[in-house]
Amino acid sequence: MTAAPEQVDRSTDVVDVAREQVLERGVGLTEAQVLEVLELPDDRIEDLLALAHDVRMRWCGPEVEVEGIVSLKTGGCPEDCHFCSQSGQFPSPVRSAWLDIPGLVKAARQTADTGATEFCIVAAVRGPDKRLLSQVREGIKAIRDDGNDIQIACSLGMLTQEQVDELVSMGVHRYNHNLETARSHFPNVVTTHSWEERWDTLRMIRDAGMEVCCGGIIGMGESLAQRAEFAVQLASLEPDEVPLNFLIPNPGTPYEDYPVVEGPDALRAVAAFRLALPRTILRFAGGRELTFGDLGAKQGMLGGINAIIVGNYLTNLGRPAVQDLEMLDELSMPIKALSQTL
Ligand code: SF4
Repeated sequence: MTAAPEQVDRSTDVVDVAREQVLERGVGLTEAQVLEVLELPDDRIEDLLALAHDVRMRWCGPEVEVEGIVSLKTGGCPEDCHFCSQSGQFPSPVRSAWLDIPGLVKAARQTADTGATEFCIVAAVRGPDKRLLSQVREGIKAIRDDGNDIQIACSLGMLTQEQVDELVSMGVHRYNHNLETARSHFPNVVTTHSWEERWDTLRMIRDAGMEVCCGGIIGMGESLAQRAEFAVQLASLEPDEVPLNFLIPNPGTPYEDYPVVEGPDALRAVAAFRLALPRTILRFAGGRELTFGDLGAKQGMLGGINAIIVGNYLTNLGRPAVQDLEMLDELSMPIKALSQTL
């Protein structure tokens, strides 16, 4: 005799399932569930954002981490990441330039003055050479000598174990290295190195005890299924922070004619990533002004985001820091204090 089919007593609606699974139990969505979220109709976006916000409040709290970034070495990168105006392989109008140590100290001071707790030093390179690492060492020392105790993160490309150890010895507490997109889509975006090479660097960073910051860019021709694949691949890395960017079709890059991600798609992506990564710092990074405008930034902050980058991005101008800080104030979201992150 065959048993009667079991009555399913809970809704199969993905928002209701996520409410129980992610909000109540803190278990991130699976790839299939993330895809369902990304395919929800526009009239469910409000429900979805409300849930993503509740998940963020429950598992991360109301605080927002504010970070400033500075480019130590801009442009002229030998890699061919198709979205990037800093690649030396495309005719983008970004010129190669180095920032000097006084410039770095000034940028760190300005960042700390906004109330930010993170300062990320970025260089457009495949990986750091001796010159770059000694600049970073000197720069960090100069920032400390200036009496600035802001936490310092770096983003210097792929690393060897020796370089990882060197950064730890300099007191770098977090390292940013983005996987950029789903593993299955990566070869369409970058041909000069592999997703696996990036993954290896991330494992070394994690094993050395540094915080892992790893995200990517939405809108590079990936399918919704690949967006879901990416969210779950990121979750398997258990990153401390995920910066979520939306493609800026920069002139001169192979993606210059790509359409900007539509606001509703971007909001579904923000919420889906929050539901896949309930405990992670989810940071609004590049492209949000273009994709969302001013109003949408607020929607994102109420839809699962709990960190922002203030001021200018690397090659595209962001909104003035004060506008973002006012927005947080209006939303009654406190800026994360340094003492609570130590
Ligand atoms: S490695 Fe970084 S700086 Fe270089 S092209 Fe790729 S994204 Fe741009």
